[in-house]
Amino acid sequence: MSEKTITVDHAIEMLKSSGVRITPQRHAILEYLVISDSHPTADEIYKALEHKFPNMSVATVYNNLRVFKKTGLVKELTYGDASSRFDFSTKRHYHVICSKCGKIVDFFYPGLDEVEELAAQVTGFTVDHHRLEVYGTCPECQKNESENPSKLEHETTIG
Ligand SMILES: [Zn+2]
Ligand SMILES: [Zn+2]
Repeated sequence: MSEKTITVDHAIEMLKSSGVRITPQRHAILEYLVISDSHPTADEIYKALEHKFPNMSVATVYNNLRVFKKTGLVKELTYGDASSRFDFSTKRHYHVICSKCGKIVDFFYPGLDEVEELAAQVTGFTVDHHRLEVYGTCPECQKNESENPSKLEHETTIG
């Protein structure tokens, strides 16, 4: 079970107190972010909500996410050329990412402040944040693999 205990109402209140006007679209986008707990892309949010808001475009979703991002309550996770994923979080956490299906799951661990301090000392940078990602295979993909072993890459390389 996720440690995220944020409710949608609570999230809305936090955004409101940061000065964000809550429109029905923003409410729906935020609700999706909080409830899905899956670090969706703007495109995934758009697809999930387009039946509710036929006039909404992916660009609208993006713009709203950008507004949320300014409050610091929503984080954008960028992965090179791949689409950004968005995360509603009030608590600092780390991510474990499935190399097979791309699923991102939160886990909590005390912030690695010493690493930031050391980096600053050693390099003379002023450090403002860091990012740690752990990669592996999620339980669902492990299960799929053991059920369909033929789908595995056939070559076993030694060395
Ligand atoms: Zn997976
Ligand atoms: Zn997260």
